[in-house]
Amino acid sequence: MIKINEVHKRFGNIEVLKGVSFEVNKGEVVCLIGPSGSGKSTILRCINGLETYEEGDIHVLDQRVNSRDKRINDLRRQIGMVFQRFNLFPHRSVLENVMEGPIHVNGESRAVAEKRSKDLLALVGLADKINAWPAQLSGGQQQRVAIARTLALQPQAILFDEPTSALDPELVGEVLQVMRTLAREGMTMVVVTHEMQFAREVADRVCFLHGGLIVEQGPADRILGNPQEPRTQDFLKRVL
Ligand code: ADP
Ligand code: MG
Repeated sequence: MIKINEVHKRFGNIEVLKGVSFEVNKGEVVCLIGPSGSGKSTILRCINGLETYEEGDIHVLDQRVNSRDKRINDLRRQIGMVFQRFNLFPHRSVLENVMEGPIHVNGESRAVAEKRSKDLLALVGLADKINAWPAQLSGGQQQRVAIARTLALQPQAILFDEPTSALDPELVGEVLQVMRTLAREGMTMVVVTHEMQFAREVADRVCFLHGGLIVEQGPADRILGNPQEPRTQDFLKRVL
């Protein structure tokens, strides 16, 4: 579903991706781990066309990702994104936040959008909060609304960029639980995370990035339990 082949990306003179390659098959969960500044967010942004890249290629659903192509908006609709900061509309209810995309981006009727949005809010455990304002929710609840909002656009895959990093520790679990449910239901996911336990349980594959390169990738058990590269071993010693 997502194929990244020898991608290079520069910001000015600085090369931040130095030939990154990996693939994500339909229904797979791939976790990207690595130190701050290693290029994890940049890869996600390249996958959904928020950033250009200079060399190599990225294909999503057999379409080459080119941020200057007019079809990029269609492609972005296929690939959802969940960020560290949830950015809900503060003056709209929880339900309206989720319905916004289906109505204004996908042109669905209110009735259809409302029905699915309510179902999705139930899926993320917030059936009783549909009329609340974002500010009345905890960070974990807001992030779950953000996930429902992304799902409402019926993406083929979702990219998560440190979805629990801005949360108080006691709220991390409820968001990971929702992500586990999505994984179990077969959602294709690329997840940048520092939650190694989650990666170990849920990821089909883990890619360890360092300095703009994937130093090591493979099954979660092997990369996290028995890493071969000194840089992976070093990193895991510090985060585990
Ligand atoms: P990570 O998500 O792994 O922490 P990023 O992908 O955010 O890393 O960043 C990789 C490198 O690219 C870092 O050195 C960062 O400073 C640099 N970088 C990211 N975005 C920009 C930008 N818009 N302009 C210049 N440099 C950037
Ligand atoms: Mg990042």
